[in-house]
Amino acid sequence: MTSHKTIKLKPKEGRRARAGAPWIFSNEIQMDAAARTLAPGSVVNILFDDGQPLGTGYFNPKSLIGLRLLDKAVDTVIGTGFFVRRLERALKLREALYAKPFYRLVHAEGDGLPGLTIDRFGDSLVAQIGTAGMEALIEPLLKALDKVLEPTTVVLRNDAPSRALEGLGEEVRAAKGEAGRIAVEENGVRYFADLGAGQKTGWYYDQRDNRAFMAPLAKGKTVLDAYSYTGGFGIAAAKAGAREVICLDSSAPALALAEDSAAANGVRVQAVKADVFEEMERLGAAKESFDIVIADPPPFVRAKKDLEPGAKAYRKLAKLAAEVTAPNGFLLLASCSHNIPMERFANECAAGIARAGRKAALIRQAGAGPDHPVHPMLPETAYLKALVYALD
Ligand code: SAH
Repeated sequence: MTSHKTIKLKPKEGRRARAGAPWIFSNEIQMDAAARTLAPGSVVNILFDDGQPLGTGYFNPKSLIGLRLLDKAVDTVIGTGFFVRRLERALKLREALYAKPFYRLVHAEGDGLPGLTIDRFGDSLVAQIGTAGMEALIEPLLKALDKVLEPTTVVLRNDAPSRALEGLGEEVRAAKGEAGRIAVEENGVRYFADLGAGQKTGWYYDQRDNRAFMAPLAKGKTVLDAYSYTGGFGIAAAKAGAREVICLDSSAPALALAEDSAAANGVRVQAVKADVFEEMERLGAAKESFDIVIADPPPFVRAKKDLEPGAKAYRKLAKLAAEVTAPNGFLLLASCSHNIPMERFANECAAGIARAGRKAALIRQAGAGPDHPVHPMLPETAYLKALVYALD
């Protein structure tokens, strides 16, 4: 027996959990005095109102998502062994998918590890912890990572603003080795990422398949990679034989990495530091256009309340991007906002393209790659949407 405290659901609650959902909301939980005094992140046994066992999870009385399920059995010891089992399963999936050790290794609930994402760059790992529950489990997690992967570097990028919802502060530190610039290999292209100072984990593996789709279309063509970050799309296109590639971003350090990555691949990209909306307006007014246009912006709908202004921004971006897409060109529009559903995003993109006076056929609707598995009961966590249009 373990010494987990017990949390009970309210009468008649837990239908979604019984069907396999890994989250239980605070309004479904009996918040008695004992529950309220539990430290945020405590590992608990979860019981239905009638005392039937639901599983082992972690509890945060301060969070809207009060419980996150870790295991289907009660009394499960959440220690190094638990993490070793979960990590081995996650690793096996990636090894089946990819020949080289560059991928998202852990994608939270999709890998049975709520509140945790880990990106792998060969011997370097970058973890992001998003919940008080996972934060309290850092020690067994790090031990398990050593056992399963023997990494030389483990960086904790715990600087997502969403941590505040769990009552957590922000910190970036190397738990092992040193955070710095490393190489990423993806689709046969070599990139650089900065694990300590880059955005998120330093690299966006989620767009891997979409980069692979766009690159061969670019052979002999001109490319505008808007919101390029470190050049994920642009350098792949250049390597596939694009005639000219512009990487457009507001971040100077990201563009510097893009230029270095291009050089490492023996290609050239032109880095332009500007605001995408302003630069696209300028290019459109100057009647400049590109055979391939990629627009992969930061999230425009950060919270549910931002849906309407965010949707409008996606529509405007689609219009501007279509205006600088050459006749018979291809346009990729992406959204990484989980708060806008695919259908709404697609409608806004269609409206924006039509407003640019262009006809378009949708030739690809995609999300993140398979190293971002989605828990089947949390379809809303499939945040990435990428639409590719062939324009007339
Ligand atoms: N396409 C990239 C990921 C893009 S992330 C890839 O494949 O890796 C979003 C990028 O938008 C970030 O690099 C950020 O610096 C940039 N950005 C945010 N606001 C911007 C703006 N107004 N104008 C230009 N770039 C912007």
